[in-house]
Amino acid sequence: MGVDDLYQEIILDHYKHPRNSGEFSEECMSIERDNPVCGDHIKLMVIIDDNNIVSDVKFKGMGCAINIASASIMTEQIIGKSMKEADKIVNAFVNVMHGEQDPEVLDGHGDLTALKGVIKFPVRLKCATLSWHAMEELLKRE
Ligand code: ZN
Repeated sequence: MGVDDLYQEIILDHYKHPRNSGEFSEECMSIERDNPVCGDHIKLMVIIDDNNIVSDVKFKGMGCAINIASASIMTEQIIGKSMKEADKIVNAFVNVMHGEQDPEVLDGHGDLTALKGVIKFPVRLKCATLSWHAMEELLKRE
């Protein structure tokens, strides 16, 4: 199995079994964003504790596999991180997708590396970055 197939497997797995999908019953910060080009929609919900740790994240997504998988992978990367660390990962990912940073910075970040495969498909970049840009905005609000 080639590396591209492996990436595809990971993305499909997150699409079929999204992690941290759902909604909180308690109060949380939230943001909604759309990618009209593809019909993607994302609602992110974030709980930040008193120590500025992103203690929990949930999302509701509609649209293509890349959008859902990317959001699912993002929640795994962000939960439990300080806001500063979360912001750093979000920036790194967005920069890589825009070709402004070496994709190798994503190595060692679990399933996040699978999204490197999207770089080859510029038409899908907005799908992959939708939830990350939403997170970027949410973190700036605090
Ligand atoms: Zn899409």
